[in-house]
Amino acid sequence: MEDDLLIFSAASLSSVQVIKDVLADFEELSGLKANPSKSLIFLAGVNPCLKQEILEMVHMLEGICLGRSLWTVPIPTSCSWSWKKLLKIRELAKRLLRFKVGDGMKIFLWLDNWHPTGYLLDRFGYRAIYDSGFSIDAKLSNIIRNEDWFWPSARSEAIVEIQSSLPDIQLGGDDLPVWDSRNGKYSCAETWEKLRSRHPVVPWWKTVWFPMAIPRHSFFLWLVFKDAVVTRNKMSAWGYSGPCLCLFCYAAQESREHLFFRCSFSGRVWKAIMGDCSLAVPTNWDEIEDWGPKMLRGKSLKNCLGRLCFVAVVYHLWKQRNALLHGNNPRSEEDILAQIRWEVRARIMAQKNFQNSELQMKLVAKWNLFSCL
Ligand SMILES: [Zn+2]
Repeated sequence: MEDDLLIFSAASLSSVQVIKDVLADFEELSGLKANPSKSLIFLAGVNPCLKQEILEMVHMLEGICLGRSLWTVPIPTSCSWSWKKLLKIRELAKRLLRFKVGDGMKIFLWLDNWHPTGYLLDRFGYRAIYDSGFSIDAKLSNIIRNEDWFWPSARSEAIVEIQSSLPDIQLGGDDLPVWDSRNGKYSCAETWEKLRSRHPVVPWWKTVWFPMAIPRHSFFLWLVFKDAVVTRNKMSAWGYSGPCLCLFCYAAQESREHLFFRCSFSGRVWKAIMGDCSLAVPTNWDEIEDWGPKMLRGKSLKNCLGRLCFVAVVYHLWKQRNALLHGNNPRSEEDILAQIRWEVRARIMAQKNFQNSELQMKLVAKWNLFSCL
Protein backbone atom coordinates (compact mmCIF):
# COMPACT_ATOMS: atom_id res chain seq x y z
CA MET A 1 0.00 0.00 0.00
CA GLU A 2 1.19 3.51 -0.80
CA ASP A 3 1.62 5.28 2.52
CA ASP A 4 4.02 8.10 1.64
CA LEU A 5 2.88 11.57 2.54
CA LEU A 6 3.75 14.97 1.07
CA ILE A 7 3.23 18.00 3.31
CA PHE A 8 3.63 21.53 1.97
CA SER A 9 4.24 24.45 4.27
CA ALA A 10 5.36 28.05 4.41
CA ALA A 11 9.03 28.21 5.39
CA SER A 12 8.54 29.65 8.87
CA LEU A 13 9.21 28.22 12.32
CA SER A 14 5.59 28.75 13.37
CA SER A 15 4.22 26.83 10.34
CA VAL A 16 6.66 23.97 10.85
CA GLN A 17 5.68 23.86 14.55
CA VAL A 18 1.99 23.57 13.60
CA ILE A 19 2.81 20.59 11.37
CA LYS A 20 4.85 18.98 14.13
CA ASP A 21 1.96 19.43 16.59
CA VAL A 22 -0.55 17.97 14.13
CA LEU A 23 1.67 14.94 13.51
CA ALA A 24 2.05 14.49 17.28
CA ASP A 25 -1.75 14.60 17.71
CA PHE A 26 -2.15 12.16 14.84
CA GLU A 27 0.36 9.83 16.47
CA GLU A 28 -1.49 9.98 19.78
CA LEU A 29 -4.83 9.21 18.11
CA SER A 30 -3.70 6.58 15.63
CA GLY A 31 -0.47 5.16 17.00
CA LEU A 32 1.17 5.88 13.60
CA LYS A 33 4.45 7.73 13.98
CA ALA A 34 6.35 9.66 11.30
CA ASN A 35 9.92 8.40 11.09
CA PRO A 36 12.32 11.39 10.75
CA SER A 37 15.18 9.17 9.62
CA LYS A 38 13.12 8.06 6.61
CA SER A 39 11.81 11.55 5.83
CA LEU A 40 13.28 14.33 3.75
CA ILE A 41 12.67 18.06 3.88
CA PHE A 42 13.03 20.24 0.77
CA LEU A 43 13.49 23.97 1.33
CA ALA A 44 13.30 26.74 -1.25
CA GLY A 45 13.70 30.49 -0.93
CA VAL A 46 14.95 30.25 2.67
CA ASN A 47 17.90 32.15 4.08
CA PRO A 48 20.70 30.01 5.59
CA CYS A 49 19.93 30.94 9.24
CA LEU A 50 16.25 30.05 9.01
CA LYS A 51 17.09 26.89 7.08
CA GLN A 52 19.38 25.76 9.92
CA GLU A 53 16.73 26.50 12.54
CA ILE A 54 14.09 24.54 10.60
CA LEU A 55 16.42 21.57 10.08
CA GLU A 56 17.20 21.50 13.82
CA MET A 57 13.53 21.68 14.62
CA VAL A 58 12.41 18.76 12.43
CA HIS A 59 15.50 16.52 12.80
CA MET A 60 15.27 15.49 9.14
CA LEU A 61 17.76 15.29 6.34
CA GLU A 62 17.54 17.94 3.68
CA GLY A 63 16.55 16.55 0.28
CA ILE A 64 18.83 17.72 -2.52
CA CYS A 65 19.35 17.05 -6.20
CA LEU A 66 22.99 16.20 -6.46
CA GLY A 67 24.73 17.85 -9.42
CA ARG A 68 21.72 17.99 -11.73
CA SER A 69 19.00 20.50 -12.31
CA LEU A 70 15.67 19.53 -10.80
CA TRP A 71 14.02 20.47 -14.11
CA THR A 72 15.92 17.87 -16.16
CA VAL A 73 16.23 14.91 -13.75
CA PRO A 74 14.45 11.99 -15.46
CA ILE A 75 11.73 10.27 -13.43
CA PRO A 76 13.34 7.03 -12.19
CA THR A 77 11.41 3.79 -12.64
CA SER A 78 12.15 2.77 -9.07
CA CYS A 79 12.04 5.53 -6.48
CA SER A 80 9.73 6.57 -3.67
CA TRP A 81 6.16 7.49 -4.48
CA SER A 82 6.65 11.01 -3.05
CA TRP A 83 9.75 11.72 -5.16
CA LYS A 84 7.97 10.52 -8.28
CA LYS A 85 5.00 12.78 -7.48
CA LEU A 86 7.28 15.76 -6.89
CA LEU A 87 9.01 15.23 -10.22
CA LYS A 88 5.67 14.92 -12.00
CA ILE A 89 4.38 18.25 -10.72
CA ARG A 90 7.65 20.16 -11.08
CA GLU A 91 6.44 21.83 -14.31
CA LEU A 92 3.83 23.66 -12.20
CA ALA A 93 6.47 24.95 -9.79
CA LYS A 94 8.82 25.81 -12.66
CA ARG A 95 6.62 28.73 -13.70
CA LEU A 96 6.52 30.10 -10.16
CA LEU A 97 10.20 30.09 -9.23
CA ARG A 98 12.98 32.41 -10.24
CA PHE A 99 16.51 33.05 -8.98
CA LYS A 100 18.04 36.12 -7.42
CA VAL A 101 21.63 35.96 -8.65
CA GLY A 102 24.55 36.02 -6.21
CA ASP A 103 27.77 34.31 -7.30
CA GLY A 104 25.96 31.93 -9.68
CA MET A 105 27.42 28.77 -8.10
CA LYS A 106 23.98 27.24 -7.44
CA ILE A 107 22.22 28.40 -10.60
CA PHE A 108 22.15 26.53 -13.90
CA LEU A 109 22.86 28.90 -16.79
CA TRP A 110 20.42 27.32 -19.25
CA LEU A 111 18.06 25.43 -16.99
CA ASP A 112 17.09 27.86 -14.21
CA ASN A 113 14.91 30.94 -14.29
CA TRP A 114 17.31 33.79 -13.57
CA HIS A 115 17.22 35.79 -16.83
CA PRO A 116 14.48 38.41 -17.52
CA THR A 117 13.36 36.45 -20.59
CA GLY A 118 12.86 33.28 -18.53
CA TYR A 119 14.41 29.84 -18.90
CA LEU A 120 17.10 30.23 -21.57
CA LEU A 121 16.87 26.67 -22.88
CA ASP A 122 13.10 27.01 -23.34
CA ARG A 123 13.50 30.43 -24.96
CA PHE A 124 16.49 29.89 -27.27
CA GLY A 125 16.83 26.11 -27.62
CA TYR A 126 19.88 23.86 -27.92
CA ARG A 127 21.33 25.87 -30.81
CA ALA A 128 22.12 28.77 -28.47
CA ILE A 129 23.88 26.39 -26.06
CA TYR A 130 25.98 25.03 -28.90
CA ASP A 131 26.86 28.54 -30.08
CA SER A 132 27.79 29.65 -26.57
CA GLY A 133 30.46 27.00 -26.06
CA PHE A 134 29.09 26.19 -22.57
CA SER A 135 27.62 22.81 -21.66
CA ILE A 136 23.95 22.34 -20.84
CA ASP A 137 24.86 21.72 -17.18
CA ALA A 138 26.99 24.89 -16.94
CA LYS A 139 26.50 27.02 -13.86
CA LEU A 140 25.92 30.73 -14.03
CA SER A 141 29.22 31.26 -12.17
CA ASN A 142 30.96 30.57 -15.51
CA ILE A 143 29.93 34.03 -16.69
CA ILE A 144 30.49 35.95 -13.44
CA ARG A 145 33.86 37.35 -12.35
CA ASN A 146 34.39 39.61 -9.32
CA GLU A 147 30.67 40.29 -8.95
CA ASP A 148 30.35 41.38 -12.57
CA TRP A 149 29.18 39.74 -15.80
CA PHE A 150 31.94 38.18 -17.84
CA TRP A 151 30.63 36.49 -20.98
CA PRO A 152 32.96 35.73 -23.93
CA SER A 153 32.07 37.70 -27.05
CA ALA A 154 28.81 36.70 -28.67
CA ARG A 155 28.78 34.29 -31.60
CA SER A 156 25.07 34.33 -32.43
CA GLU A 157 22.02 36.61 -32.30
CA ALA A 158 20.57 34.57 -29.45
CA ILE A 159 23.66 35.20 -27.33
CA VAL A 160 23.55 38.90 -28.19
CA GLU A 161 19.95 39.02 -26.98
CA ILE A 162 20.80 37.16 -23.77
CA GLN A 163 23.75 39.47 -23.08
CA SER A 164 21.76 42.65 -23.75
CA SER A 165 19.66 42.10 -20.61
CA LEU A 166 22.55 41.27 -18.28
CA PRO A 167 23.22 44.87 -17.12
CA ASP A 168 19.64 44.97 -15.74
CA ILE A 169 20.37 42.11 -13.34
CA GLN A 170 21.86 43.06 -9.99
CA LEU A 171 24.51 40.74 -8.62
CA GLY A 172 25.41 40.22 -4.98
CA GLY A 173 24.62 38.20 -1.87
CA ASP A 174 23.74 34.51 -2.13
CA ASP A 175 22.04 32.74 -4.99
CA LEU A 176 18.48 32.62 -3.77
CA PRO A 177 15.42 30.93 -5.28
CA VAL A 178 12.39 33.19 -4.80
CA TRP A 179 8.72 32.75 -5.54
CA ASP A 180 7.32 34.76 -8.40
CA SER A 181 4.99 36.67 -6.06
CA ARG A 182 4.48 40.25 -4.94
CA ASN A 183 7.10 40.10 -2.16
CA GLY A 184 9.10 37.08 -3.33
CA LYS A 185 7.70 34.96 -0.50
CA TYR A 186 5.49 31.92 -0.85
CA SER A 187 1.78 32.60 -0.53
CA CYS A 188 -0.84 29.85 -0.75
CA ALA A 189 -3.43 32.31 -2.06
CA GLU A 190 -1.21 33.76 -4.80
CA THR A 191 0.06 30.34 -5.84
CA TRP A 192 -3.47 28.99 -6.05
CA GLU A 193 -4.52 31.97 -8.14
CA LYS A 194 -1.66 31.31 -10.56
CA LEU A 195 -2.23 27.56 -10.84
CA ARG A 196 -5.99 27.28 -10.96
CA SER A 197 -7.93 27.10 -14.18
CA ARG A 198 -10.55 29.78 -14.74
CA HIS A 199 -14.06 29.47 -16.08
CA PRO A 200 -16.76 32.07 -16.79
CA VAL A 201 -18.56 33.26 -13.65
CA VAL A 202 -21.99 31.64 -13.40
CA PRO A 203 -24.94 33.85 -12.39
CA TRP A 204 -26.07 31.48 -9.62
CA TRP A 205 -22.86 31.23 -7.62
CA LYS A 206 -24.09 33.49 -4.81
CA THR A 207 -27.20 31.34 -4.46
CA VAL A 208 -24.93 28.41 -3.62
CA TRP A 209 -21.93 29.94 -1.84
CA PHE A 210 -22.44 32.65 0.77
CA PRO A 211 -20.93 33.38 4.20
CA MET A 212 -23.69 31.78 6.29
CA ALA A 213 -24.07 28.73 4.06
CA ILE A 214 -24.16 25.24 5.55
CA PRO A 215 -21.31 23.58 3.62
CA ARG A 216 -22.91 20.17 3.02
CA HIS A 217 -26.09 21.85 1.77
CA SER A 218 -24.18 24.18 -0.54
CA PHE A 219 -22.03 21.40 -1.92
CA PHE A 220 -25.09 19.40 -2.86
CA LEU A 221 -26.84 22.38 -4.45
CA TRP A 222 -23.67 23.01 -6.46
CA LEU A 223 -23.93 19.46 -7.81
CA VAL A 224 -27.57 20.11 -8.72
CA PHE A 225 -26.68 23.30 -10.60
CA LYS A 226 -23.90 21.42 -12.39
CA ASP A 227 -26.48 18.76 -13.29
CA ALA A 228 -24.23 16.16 -11.68
CA VAL A 229 -26.91 14.49 -9.54
CA VAL A 230 -27.78 11.04 -10.84
CA THR A 231 -31.57 11.07 -11.13
CA ARG A 232 -33.44 8.08 -12.53
CA ASN A 233 -34.07 9.63 -15.96
CA LYS A 234 -30.29 9.88 -16.36
CA MET A 235 -29.78 6.28 -15.33
CA SER A 236 -32.41 5.30 -17.86
CA ALA A 237 -30.56 7.20 -20.59
CA TRP A 238 -27.42 5.26 -19.62
CA GLY A 239 -29.20 1.93 -20.14
CA TYR A 240 -30.70 1.30 -16.68
CA SER A 241 -33.89 -0.72 -17.17
CA GLY A 242 -35.34 -0.53 -13.64
CA PRO A 243 -38.19 1.71 -12.45
CA CYS A 244 -37.78 5.39 -13.25
CA LEU A 245 -40.75 7.00 -11.52
CA CYS A 246 -40.41 9.71 -8.90
CA LEU A 247 -40.23 8.10 -5.48
CA PHE A 248 -42.28 10.91 -3.91
CA CYS A 249 -45.37 10.80 -6.13
CA TYR A 250 -44.99 7.88 -8.59
CA ALA A 251 -46.74 10.14 -11.11
CA ALA A 252 -43.84 11.17 -13.35
CA GLN A 253 -40.32 10.18 -14.35
CA GLU A 254 -37.71 11.29 -11.83
CA SER A 255 -35.63 14.14 -13.27
CA ARG A 256 -33.87 17.13 -11.74
CA GLU A 257 -36.70 19.42 -12.70
CA HIS A 258 -39.47 17.10 -11.51
CA LEU A 259 -37.87 15.89 -8.30
CA PHE A 260 -36.85 19.28 -6.97
CA PHE A 261 -39.45 21.62 -8.44
CA ARG A 262 -42.46 20.10 -10.19
CA CYS A 263 -43.32 17.20 -7.88
CA SER A 264 -46.41 17.73 -5.68
CA PHE A 265 -44.51 16.54 -2.59
CA SER A 266 -41.59 18.90 -3.23
CA GLY A 267 -44.09 21.67 -3.98
CA ARG A 268 -45.62 21.31 -0.52
CA VAL A 269 -42.20 21.46 1.14
CA TRP A 270 -41.23 24.55 -0.87
CA LYS A 271 -44.52 26.27 -0.09
CA ALA A 272 -44.26 25.60 3.64
CA ILE A 273 -40.62 26.61 4.02
CA MET A 274 -40.38 29.50 1.58
CA GLY A 275 -43.77 30.74 2.76
CA ASP A 276 -42.16 31.19 6.18
CA CYS A 277 -39.68 33.56 4.46
CA SER A 278 -42.39 35.42 2.49
CA LEU A 279 -40.90 34.06 -0.75
CA ALA A 280 -42.10 31.79 -3.54
CA VAL A 281 -39.82 29.60 -5.65
CA PRO A 282 -40.42 29.12 -9.40
CA THR A 283 -41.34 25.60 -10.49
CA ASN A 284 -39.27 25.79 -13.66
CA TRP A 285 -35.56 24.99 -13.50
CA ASP A 286 -34.68 27.52 -16.21
CA GLU A 287 -36.09 30.31 -14.05
CA ILE A 288 -34.25 29.15 -10.92
CA GLU A 289 -30.83 30.20 -12.19
CA ASP A 290 -31.99 33.82 -12.47
CA TRP A 291 -34.40 33.77 -9.54
CA GLY A 292 -31.70 33.38 -6.89
CA PRO A 293 -29.51 36.33 -7.96
CA LYS A 294 -32.63 38.53 -8.36
CA MET A 295 -34.61 37.59 -5.26
CA LEU A 296 -31.95 36.65 -2.71
CA ARG A 297 -29.66 39.68 -2.93
CA GLY A 298 -28.52 41.63 0.11
CA LYS A 299 -28.01 40.88 3.77
CA SER A 300 -31.52 41.41 5.14
CA LEU A 301 -33.00 38.75 7.38
CA LYS A 302 -35.48 37.83 4.65
CA ASN A 303 -32.73 37.17 2.12
CA CYS A 304 -30.51 35.31 4.59
CA LEU A 305 -33.43 33.08 5.54
CA GLY A 306 -34.39 32.68 1.89
CA ARG A 307 -30.92 31.58 0.84
CA LEU A 308 -30.48 29.17 3.72
CA CYS A 309 -33.95 27.70 3.19
CA PHE A 310 -33.52 27.32 -0.57
CA VAL A 311 -30.29 25.36 -0.16
CA ALA A 312 -31.65 23.32 2.77
CA VAL A 313 -34.84 22.28 0.94
CA VAL A 314 -32.91 20.95 -2.08
CA TYR A 315 -30.56 19.04 0.24
CA HIS A 316 -33.32 17.49 2.35
CA LEU A 317 -35.47 16.55 -0.65
CA TRP A 318 -32.56 14.55 -2.02
CA LYS A 319 -31.88 13.02 1.39
CA GLN A 320 -35.52 11.89 1.60
CA ARG A 321 -35.40 10.56 -1.96
CA ASN A 322 -32.35 8.44 -1.07
CA ALA A 323 -33.98 7.23 2.14
CA LEU A 324 -37.02 6.09 0.11
CA LEU A 325 -34.82 4.45 -2.53
CA HIS A 326 -32.75 2.50 -0.03
CA GLY A 327 -35.51 1.90 2.54
CA ASN A 328 -33.38 3.76 5.04
CA ASN A 329 -35.79 5.41 7.51
CA PRO A 330 -37.61 7.91 5.30
CA ARG A 331 -39.10 10.72 7.37
CA SER A 332 -42.57 12.17 7.45
CA GLU A 333 -43.28 15.46 5.68
CA GLU A 334 -43.63 17.15 9.10
CA ASP A 335 -40.26 15.80 10.22
CA ILE A 336 -38.55 17.12 7.10
CA LEU A 337 -40.07 20.58 7.58
CA ALA A 338 -39.08 20.56 11.25
CA GLN A 339 -35.52 19.50 10.45
CA ILE A 340 -35.09 22.23 7.81
CA ARG A 341 -36.51 24.90 10.15
CA TRP A 342 -34.27 23.73 12.99
CA GLU A 343 -31.08 23.81 10.87
CA VAL A 344 -31.85 27.19 9.31
CA ARG A 345 -32.82 28.73 12.62
CA ALA A 346 -29.64 27.46 14.29
CA ARG A 347 -27.59 29.08 11.52
CA ILE A 348 -29.44 32.39 11.71
CA MET A 349 -29.13 32.49 15.51
CA ALA A 350 -25.37 32.78 15.11
CA GLN A 351 -25.91 36.04 13.19
CA LYS A 352 -26.82 39.10 15.23
CA ASN A 353 -28.04 42.62 14.54
CA PHE A 354 -30.38 42.44 11.61
CA GLN A 355 -31.97 45.79 10.73
CA ASN A 356 -35.37 46.38 12.24
CA SER A 357 -38.47 46.67 10.05
CA GLU A 358 -42.08 45.53 9.97
CA LEU A 359 -41.35 42.52 7.73
CA GLN A 360 -38.35 41.78 9.88
CA MET A 361 -40.48 41.59 13.00
CA LYS A 362 -42.89 39.18 11.32
CA LEU A 363 -39.98 36.93 10.31
CA VAL A 364 -38.41 37.17 13.76
CA ALA A 365 -41.69 36.08 15.33
CA LYS A 366 -42.28 33.28 12.83
CA TRP A 367 -38.78 31.86 13.25
CA ASN A 368 -38.49 32.70 16.95
CA LEU A 369 -35.32 34.75 16.44
CA PHE A 370 -35.73 37.37 19.15
CA SER A 371 -32.16 37.00 20.34
CA CYS A 372 -30.94 38.12 16.90
CA LEU A 373 -32.27 41.67 17.37
ZN1 LIG B 1 -42.84 13.39 -7.95
